[in-house]
Amino acid sequence: MGINIKSPEVEIRESRLGSITGFAGTARELCNRSKGKRLCDRRRSFSQCLGCNSGYSLCQLIMIQDSVVINHAPIGCCADLPDFNFTNRVGQIKRNLPLRNARLLNTNLTEKDTIYGGEEKLRKTIKEAYKRFKPNAIFVTTSCASGIIGDDVEVVTNEAEKELGIPIVFVACEGFRSKIWTTGFDAAYHAILRKIVKPPVNKREDLVNVINFWGTDIFTELFGRIGLKPNYIVPFSTIAQLEKISEAAATVQICPTLGTYLAAGLEQEYGVPEVKAPPAYGLKGTDLWFRELGRVTGKEKEVEELIKSERERIAPKLKELRSKLKGKRVYITAGAAHGHSLIALLKELHMEVAGAAIFHHDPCCDNKDPRSESLPHVVKNYGDVKNFNVCNKQPFELVNVLNRLKPDLFIARHGGMAAWGPKLGIPTFLMGDEQFGLGYQGLLNYGDKIIGVLLTKEFVTNIAAHSKLPYTDWWLKQDPYTFLGGDI
Ligand code: SF4
Repeated sequence: MGINIKSPEVEIRESRLGSITGFAGTARELCNRSKGKRLCDRRRSFSQCLGCNSGYSLCQLIMIQDSVVINHAPIGCCADLPDFNFTNRVGQIKRNLPLRNARLLNTNLTEKDTIYGGEEKLRKTIKEAYKRFKPNAIFVTTSCASGIIGDDVEVVTNEAEKELGIPIVFVACEGFRSKIWTTGFDAAYHAILRKIVKPPVNKREDLVNVINFWGTDIFTELFGRIGLKPNYIVPFSTIAQLEKISEAAATVQICPTLGTYLAAGLEQEYGVPEVKAPPAYGLKGTDLWFRELGRVTGKEKEVEELIKSERERIAPKLKELRSKLKGKRVYITAGAAHGHSLIALLKELHMEVAGAAIFHHDPCCDNKDPRSESLPHVVKNYGDVKNFNVCNKQPFELVNVLNRLKPDLFIARHGGMAAWGPKLGIPTFLMGDEQFGLGYQGLLNYGDKIIGVLLTKEFVTNIAAHSKLPYTDWWLKQDPYTFLGGDI
């Protein structure tokens, strides 16, 4: 099926891209197996936790400024809302936007509804959302419960759309649909491509869609220097803005794991060229990313000037950081392309990457162009990475590995994972702002941050001395991948 915007539901990553959540080996082995459909998922006989793709749809959709999201689910599926709303408000502050709470309603499906059906509750909630907020669109996300009982959300939303005259969009993101939670991003983008984006009327030669999360605005200044303007999507955009993303000159993404589906869909449906390059982390990735953007938008000369001046600007400080960080051992846990990008960045700082736990692996992107693949870029330019694990979180594996490798530093992208570093006496930081490490300045940002975090060694040693791990000595002596079954 691939990208088929006529279908109400997105095809999940496992079948669309052949993505997996179980692997242990080296980064090079994973790249080799990803070629020619030789990649098999190694399933765990014990699984501790994993993210829900419904949550990942919500985290994109609730940040659209003038829409409402209805989560058709038991109330517990919305337990993450305070967290999402915190991220939403922090992001609004970073972007100098007026503070506004996320507008998310839940249909509160109960046991009775699972027997008699929840469609009536959904109809009432849509009307209530419209009455209360007068939004420009309503997104209805599904859950395990509404999926299992078979509520026909597509029919209910289509009927309500005719009655209310605004887009009311079904987003198929039941938690059980996929073990790869980034399928939730794809579901949200599928909904936007299917029902919000309109065919282009006036093409904009200077406008570049930037598929991103909620990080700091760094592109207004950088793109301004090459005569372009960023159009940040999806968080903090409006429905009117999303309707016109088909008019942009190009689409870039801060991370192909996030934006692969939307970028490829915009190119396929509306001819908006996707910038096909590894993410802009580290000198090599950033050069490739900007050069491809320059080629697609006709700004080659301006881009070469930007690269030259940025490289010259950061050179003295980068040299100093490299001399301080050379040989320090670091372990990373993060989402797929973002984790690969951090490996590139840390190797560029001359650190030793002792290993990585990456939350899933896509053997290819939706555009099927090898230039966008982030892990082969890392292996080709910076060498292999040992102790390379693909896991959908699984803290029991992480604690075992960290305890064995004892790195000087642990970097985590997800909150629940960062807590384990200090408990093991490892200086650790959690990086929420993905733009922090992006581009040439990102190298300096990370270098400075790491030097500060390494100074916490005594503090975290103290924390470890007063912490009791929930794992027994027996487990810490086992192979970390004891429960990772199946032959690869
Ligand atoms: S949709 Fe399913 S997996 Fe996701 S929070 Fe609800 S019950 Fe849990």
